[in-house]
Amino acid sequence: MRSRFKPWAADLIDTHPEIVIPDPEQKKGKWQEVFGNKHPLHIEAGTGKGRFIIGMAKANPHINYIGIELFDSVIVTALETVLEEEHGIPNLRLLKVNAKKIAEYFDKGEVDRLYLNFSDPWPKKRHAKRRLTHESFLELYEAVLPENGEVHFKTDNRKLFEYSLTSISEYGMLLKEVSLDLHDNEPEWNIMTEYEEKFSKKGQPIYRMEAQFSV
Ligand code: SAM
Repeated sequence: MRSRFKPWAADLIDTHPEIVIPDPEQKKGKWQEVFGNKHPLHIEAGTGKGRFIIGMAKANPHINYIGIELFDSVIVTALETVLEEEHGIPNLRLLKVNAKKIAEYFDKGEVDRLYLNFSDPWPKKRHAKRRLTHESFLELYEAVLPENGEVHFKTDNRKLFEYSLTSISEYGMLLKEVSLDLHDNEPEWNIMTEYEEKFSKKGQPIYRMEAQFSV
């Protein structure tokens, strides 16, 4: 996600360690203490400006959510949105980290579900390892999800979707749901992401799958 350089973003992030957790490796195995409850934990890798994860957290107060994003200039928008809420969003935290390190931040089974939304497609073959549905990332997700844990994925990019269907199937995961046009009959539970709104407004189909690790 492109965003203007915001020199003030790092300072705002640093002044809100209660929302953008600065030392996630210290919280490994202790996320229930961070949230102060034993609710399930769902995370989104590549959360962007946070529209999806914030919407999910507000719609599902009995699920804890963590949005993971690489860039200050992007995640700061999610932080600003949380700060605008009169009572904050108690079941949401943000991490400004690389998703490839998630196994350093979460124990096996500590994450109950993982969301990927409109992940960067990295169309060149030599960059395939950077795709968040590459086998090397699936290994990481398996390391933090429980047995039978689920990955839910949405994208507008047909080639990335086809690649991901293959990568996920070859990994041995079970495809539970596949939609080639989510908005044809949009489920009432669907929470749109920034990119989803942009591409669906242009009339592009949105692809979605739910995949489960199997034992
Ligand atoms: N999920 C949002 C949406 O659907 O509107 C944003 C989509 S945007 C195309 C992809 C986002 O993933 C970018 O903000 C990018 O910085 C982030 N991202 C890409 N690779 C990442 C990684 N390895 N770890 C964390 N964030 C990543």
